[in-house]
Amino acid sequence: MSSLEKVIELFKRFPGIGPRQAQRFVYFLLAMPPGFRKELAGAIASIGNDAKRCLECGRFFSGSKHTHCSICSDSARSAEQLLVVAKDIDLANVERSGLYSGRYFVLRGTIPVLSKEPNKYIATGALKKLVEARVEKGLREIILAFPANPDGEHTEREIRGLLSPITDKNNIIVSALGRGLSTGAELEYVDRDTIRGALQNRS
Ligand SMILES: [Zn+2]
Repeated sequence: MSSLEKVIELFKRFPGIGPRQAQRFVYFLLAMPPGFRKELAGAIASIGNDAKRCLECGRFFSGSKHTHCSICSDSARSAEQLLVVAKDIDLANVERSGLYSGRYFVLRGTIPVLSKEPNKYIATGALKKLVEARVEKGLREIILAFPANPDGEHTEREIRGLLSPITDKNNIIVSALGRGLSTGAELEYVDRDTIRGALQNRS
């Protein structure tokens, strides 16, 4: 395999990137000065050095001296709500909307409907521990915000079941983000008005 083909193969592994887009990226890189390719390669190689997962919400953030991200370190944020999303990018989109001021947790994916080992895929253990810890700090509601597709709905049921011993005992509401979102819509892509509607219509 030539290095050109190799880079196309690597780009094809990115989320949402097909063969044609991968090819377009490679031609773009070839058209740029060699210095750009070096800079890009260097930045990619060092991305893991200062990015790590927040010990509370689990999202990636950069800041090698800290254990908690800027959101989780912000004491002005409401302790009453915890929004659980599937991916880092979902959290980023909700946060950008400026419409939510509670806490977050990133589950790191959804549970496939036919999965026999649900806990293999996602950070369920860490979520359970976080909910237990947040109960002491005034948690009132857990909002589940998974994609409107079969895996997302399956994940919602599994997480409700997983948390029910804690939520029942402490009278914590478990709601789901309202589906102003059409079927298959992903939180990652929806606009601010849709996020507003989904937050208002949670049930
Ligand atoms: Zn955090």
